[in-house]
Amino acid sequence: MTGQQPILSIKDISVEYDLQGERFAAISDISLDVAEGETLGLVGESGCGKSTIGRAIIQLPSPTRGSVVFEGKELTGLDRGEMRGLRCRLQIIFQDPISSLNPRRKVKDIVAEPLVIAGVSDNAERERRVREVLTAVGIEPDTAIDRVPHQFSGGQCQRICIARALIMEPKFIICDEPVSALDVSVQAQILNLLEDLKERYELALLFISHDLAVVKNVSDRVAVMYLGRICELADATRIYEVPAHPYSEGLMSSVLEISHDGEASPKSGLIGEIPSPFTAPSGCRFRTRCLYAQAKCAEIEPELRQIQSGHYVACHFPLTDSQ
Ligand code: ADP
Ligand code: MG
Repeated sequence: MTGQQPILSIKDISVEYDLQGERFAAISDISLDVAEGETLGLVGESGCGKSTIGRAIIQLPSPTRGSVVFEGKELTGLDRGEMRGLRCRLQIIFQDPISSLNPRRKVKDIVAEPLVIAGVSDNAERERRVREVLTAVGIEPDTAIDRVPHQFSGGQCQRICIARALIMEPKFIICDEPVSALDVSVQAQILNLLEDLKERYELALLFISHDLAVVKNVSDRVAVMYLGRICELADATRIYEVPAHPYSEGLMSSVLEISHDGEASPKSGLIGEIPSPFTAPSGCRFRTRCLYAQAKCAEIEPELRQIQSGHYVACHFPLTDSQ
């Protein structure tokens, strides 16, 4: 990280949910910083708590414990009105573009919605900005503005969602599995678009995906999550070249196996199933699936610690040597 203040700093956040009368922690003690203009990738299997982190940042819901500081301002405890004011600087886009868009509204109204909320009442000004941002995401405004979402493909709908997120010129966008619902060929187009927009608007991104290959290509740094906790955090190149956590290694080998024969199971590099968050294993949560687990792993939960400059791992027996 550079010496400057991070644009987003989350510290020791936990989110607990009630499920059928029982309380469980969907995420525990998560701390992450994102620098201005940086893309932080967040990866892990489905259910590990990635979306919960994304939603905790925008206070939907606010974390049960911990702090979320955006542009120097504490977000936990803000009321809805105050959060709405900040949302122009802090946006989120979701996995399923089609269901994120109101099917009955025209594209021009969908994309202009944040402007309306922000009180921009001049129609001509709104339409000018809608046209500008649609052009920026590769949607031809003349043909698009009076159409409704079902007249567009999934990829085009995601472009429209991105336009809506961009119209207030935010500095930070949470991208929650933005390409997971799209065809592979369209995925690359959307990822390239995000990359271009990031340069142009000096955006920072929290890029959430269960797909390691996608995260690898877009991220400056990557955080790997397992069962509600961060197990490794490092520069993207480093984590892919020398993963230190056995879980990261397992995820990587899944990626390799898929790219060789195209058919392999996505979890082939990992043994066993993810335990329920209600019955998380004692000590290290990953130990029940870990090829290298030892007695200590059942007894003591490993803390996230730095093993090299900028490389953090929560493992008693990391695969990479300490400096
Ligand atoms: P991911 O995005 O990594 O797939 P989520 O953050 O959506 O994971 O979910 C983390 C855990 O929290 C899962 O066990 C999920 O079932 C649970 N969960 C998510 N949202 C809720 C909710 N509103 N109420 C109860 N449990 C939830
Ligand atoms: Mg999710």
